[in-house]
Amino acid sequence: MKDSYLHKGLRKKLVQTIQKKGIHDETILNAIYSLPRHYFLDKAFEEHAYEDKAFPIGNQQTISQPYTVAYQTQMLQVEKKDKILEIGTGSGYQAAILALLGARVFSIERQEDLFFRTRELLDRLGLERVRMYYKDGYKGLPEFAPFDKIIVTAGAEKIPQALFEQLAIGGRFVIPFGKESQRMLCITKNENQEPEIIEEGDLFKFVPFLKGTNRSKIND
Ligand code: SAH
Repeated sequence: MKDSYLHKGLRKKLVQTIQKKGIHDETILNAIYSLPRHYFLDKAFEEHAYEDKAFPIGNQQTISQPYTVAYQTQMLQVEKKDKILEIGTGSGYQAAILALLGARVFSIERQEDLFFRTRELLDRLGLERVRMYYKDGYKGLPEFAPFDKIIVTAGAEKIPQALFEQLAIGGRFVIPFGKESQRMLCITKNENQEPEIIEEGDLFKFVPFLKGTNRSKIND
């Protein structure tokens, strides 16, 4: 793995693109500038790594578009030491950005093959603040609840009750909600333990939030 001046230059441009689209949080822009996205992509896509686009990562999944990662991260309002649950580790890029912002990240992936590949990558990058789990994200990680923040990175048709239960009171739960396309929602839990939608954001297109785990291999 090598990070060159060329890569850094491309990242600077990517940051400017994301900024023009409306992301102003300096700490998020700095994290995107400092994290080599090409590490998270297949070699075949390396030269495209700094385009503001989603790319395939095998197992019919994608690495999210950088703008989408920045958007969800901004909506989460990450603070240092936050305990964050992520559903849909995928390439690990979003989890790594959260870790760079000082959060402790618990990330779940349902594709076994992807889980092992990404775990190896995050280990190699020394990202100790990310803990990964191979399981069905619908269930979350009750043993580590409550979480200050929860982020779902797959398109959900409903808000899983089990996940909401694992949110701290006053926490933030960011989830792309809908079928064909998804509206980004931020939900909190009020003092009466009830959900309240506190932000309705833009529309996005995510891969579906699926039930159960999957052991099939990369090209299936
Ligand atoms: N955060 C990722 C985005 C990956 S795409 C990144 O930065 O690259 C969404 C991911 O959600 C896919 O890897 C998919 O396998 C995963 N996913 C879908 N349903 C899931 C579930 N029930 N539990 C855990 N992961 C799930």
